[in-house]
Amino acid sequence: MTTLPSLPPPTYADVLAAAQRLEGKAHTTPVVRSTAIDERLGAKLFFKCENLQRTGAFKFRGAYNALAQFTDEQREHGVLTFSAGNHAQAIALSARLLDMPALVVMPEDAAVSKMTATREYGAQVVTYNRHTEDREAISRQIARERGMTLVPPFDHPHVIAGQGTAALELLQEVPDLDYLFISLGGGGLLSGSLLAVQTLAPQCKVIGVEPETANDAQQSLRAGHIVRIAHPQTIADGAQTQALGDYTFPLIRDHAEDIITVSDEQLIEALRFFAQRMKMVVEPTGALAFAGAQAFSGEDEGGKLLHGERVGIIVSGGNVDLSRYARFLAD
Ligand SMILES: *Cc1c(COP(=O)(O)O)cnc(C)c1O
Repeated sequence: MTTLPSLPPPTYADVLAAAQRLEGKAHTTPVVRSTAIDERLGAKLFFKCENLQRTGAFKFRGAYNALAQFTDEQREHGVLTFSAGNHAQAIALSARLLDMPALVVMPEDAAVSKMTATREYGAQVVTYNRHTEDREAISRQIARERGMTLVPPFDHPHVIAGQGTAALELLQEVPDLDYLFISLGGGGLLSGSLLAVQTLAPQCKVIGVEPETANDAQQSLRAGHIVRIAHPQTIADGAQTQALGDYTFPLIRDHAEDIITVSDEQLIEALRFFAQRMKMVVEPTGALAFAGAQAFSGEDEGGKLLHGERVGIIVSGGNVDLSRYARFLAD
């Protein structure tokens, strides 16, 4: 398989370079406010709406930044990835924009809407049985046969630098944040954001938010090494990763203020808030950061942890099957 040569860890300069590559390609997503939530928490909240990003999630930033750096030879043979989620669509669209072939290895029982969207962006989809087959072995074989380059969903310096441009934009618009809450799966979004915050707002405390059943990163931070967990059950399907990566873990360990968790019930409550008060469709994984900020504020117990603070929230994605979404709202 063609992999990029071993790369150094990403830096703030890489985030800036990614922002230049993404100019005119990614949307500069809006930052929105809610008086109701500000009053409830006694704070000022700034929501960075990556649910309105191309392909419906921040993942387009990292995928495009990685593919834009392919050599001519890599471009000719194209890109391969394995993902059942937002990274697949992000790779498919980025490959189309850069005019290269893309192949996505997906479980045969993946959501029909995601498979369809990935195909509509022009990628070839190869399915496998997740109970009897190993997706990484399949991917390696196809990559070898076709000379394709693998771009993983989070543990890659170019992907991390691209994801960091969401926080970069937020800080350029709202420079003096006290806190920034970020959804956390494999840690690409969080570690890239940390690079931007360290330079632009070193006083800002960055908090990663995981589903409570998928708290591998919290365990890793406490243990001081990467902890791998069994495949977790949660409605936040974009954060079902089992472990942080070799690039994402050290950045998070060294620079994140903390990692907290929320329950599926708290996520559903956050989805309803977004729908009712902010008129926004947000997927469960995309609501992690806001649900985390609410839990952290302790407002349920009359707490005041965020009182008077300026708080950034990255709303990370909005891709959810409508029938599933309707059930969350109706329950
Ligand atoms: C992938 C994803 C995440 C988690 O991102 P990582 O970089 O894996 O931590 C969060 N929210 C959404 C909507 C995602 O698609």
